[in-house]
Amino acid sequence: MSIIKVNQERLINEFLELVKVDSETKEEANIAKILHQKFSELGLEVIEDNAKNKTEHGANNLICNLKGNKHADPIFFTAHMDTVTPGKNIKPKIVNEYIQSDGTTILGADDKAGIAVLLEVIQVLKEQNKEYGDIQFVITVGEESGLAGAKAIDHSLLHASYGYALDSDGPVGNIVIEAPYQSKIFTKVYGKSAHAGVAPEKGISAITVAAKAIAKMNLGRIDEETTANIGYFKGGKETQTNVVCDYVEIVSEARSLKKEKLMDVTNNIQTTFEQVASKYGGRAEVEIKEMYPGFQHKKDDPVVQIAQHAAKKLELPRQLLKSGGGSDANIFNGYGIPTANLAVGYEYIHTTKERIHIDHLCNLTKLVLRIIDDVAAL
Ligand SMILES: [Zn+2]
Repeated sequence: MSIIKVNQERLINEFLELVKVDSETKEEANIAKILHQKFSELGLEVIEDNAKNKTEHGANNLICNLKGNKHADPIFFTAHMDTVTPGKNIKPKIVNEYIQSDGTTILGADDKAGIAVLLEVIQVLKEQNKEYGDIQFVITVGEESGLAGAKAIDHSLLHASYGYALDSDGPVGNIVIEAPYQSKIFTKVYGKSAHAGVAPEKGISAITVAAKAIAKMNLGRIDEETTANIGYFKGGKETQTNVVCDYVEIVSEARSLKKEKLMDVTNNIQTTFEQVASKYGGRAEVEIKEMYPGFQHKKDDPVVQIAQHAAKKLELPRQLLKSGGGSDANIFNGYGIPTANLAVGYEYIHTTKERIHIDHLCNLTKLVLRIIDDVAAL
């Protein structure tokens, strides 16, 4: 087993430099340009797809190809370049070995930590003459706006047999091996307006119809791997209590680790709206949109085994976890490339308290290097 040495100072500086570049989702132009240059300067072939046109985000996805020096399974790693808001003018500082913002913005460790780690990995591979197969580093735009970049990626450019997203919270070493499918259900309920004081019997209240339908639905936690929620309900006018409301819009979502269960839940929501509306003389229009596919890897799948084994050798925690939400890993799995999501160690993401401990940056770099090493030795 070869020894892994990480240049901690270089890694931290890289991370600090990246978080200082504003890159709120849809405004990825600057960070993309900088990353294109960084990966190119390290000797990788950097290919841009046309995600910018397809998604109206600020830049294309970057597919950075590192040619191997040994025959091995081609693998890939992915991280995203965009951040949530407030992500402008980030001023990182180090307090007790934690890197954090000044409290007025997010930090952007989600997911600049992943990118900084990958850049350090490439440098270590080259400096220490490591053996490795072909590796793709896929840096996406628009992860925070509904996985838009990964969804739009030209996946004919992806050649990996399997790989890893660096984009989960929790201590480095933990591995997300399951994540749900998610669908959204957009519903319009039509009733009939009438004067609520003079002739309410002539009207059909879309609000009442929708409420009766919702009351019949099985929502919340449906079983241990399935959930459903009404997230949005809009209808009527505050100033018109004298009008029977003839139109409401409802947006709901459902998630499940099992595709069949997700379909059962969304179909149930759809037919309940339709049947109840029709029973009361109204009408419902329902549209179901699949937001992202789910994935479920088994403990003994190679993509899981390799990461767990690498974490074990580094004496890191190595819990196998279920995610309640989607990440770019969902989309890559949907393309048929088994992808697990590795914990990065960032905390309180999407808040101004976001932070990451320096040890996590170093450990994640070692973990990725160990995975590459193990794949090359297979
Ligand atoms: Zn993220």
